[in-house]
Amino acid sequence: MLRSYFGKLTLRVASPHLYGLSSAHLVEYYGFLLESETAVAFDKMRTAASKDGIVLEICSAFRDFDRQQLIWNAKASGKRVLLDSDSKPVDIDRKSAEQIIALILLWSALPGTSRHHWGTDIDVFDSKAISKASLKLIPQEYASNGPCHQLYTWLVNNAEQFGFYFPFQHGLSGVSAEPWHLSYYPVSKGFVDDFDPRELRKILQDSSVLHKDSLLCNLESLVQEYVFRVAPTPQ
Ligand SMILES: [Zn+2]
Repeated sequence: MLRSYFGKLTLRVASPHLYGLSSAHLVEYYGFLLESETAVAFDKMRTAASKDGIVLEICSAFRDFDRQQLIWNAKASGKRVLLDSDSKPVDIDRKSAEQIIALILLWSALPGTSRHHWGTDIDVFDSKAISKASLKLIPQEYASNGPCHQLYTWLVNNAEQFGFYFPFQHGLSGVSAEPWHLSYYPVSKGFVDDFDPRELRKILQDSSVLHKDSLLCNLESLVQEYVFRVAPTPQ
């Protein structure tokens, strides 16, 4: 369902599509919303993968600001389980706001900063090897012996020729390595360049994001680490 946020916002935001506040640049692709050039490129890559026996499927594409805020607030309030860097559950009862923020940011983006707001970024799996219902999106599923390892290896060798790459890689990104998260870099590269922390600050001030005060105190460094520090795009 496409919906516009322009009427809803009381504040004026330049480039609202960078922060999950507009879906005007998206097209529908088998039930998912994708940026239009991304959809064309992904369809070509999916066809190529199927010739090599891999059923390349999307499990998550565009996500708007409100959806990301629901995820964030559920984790920040303990309603949804928080995982540590080894994907083990953490008890947040005795954690400070800063500690909770750092834990959430291991696996979930701050609302307004998710690359899923752009429609250029997708989470993928091999539906021949594992069902969507069983998929947990944890690194073990994409490592050797995992059900999506063959898919991951195929993507490492082939994704670039279709314009896709992995922005979240160990040691190269603020976000933990995500071997399931692909980005269509001919478009997303420009989105990173245009991202403006000052616009994000206005949006967050107007939002219901939990731990907002702590976030706003550290916003520039959070944006630097979690938006700007990603693996370099292929040449
Ligand atoms: Zn993702």
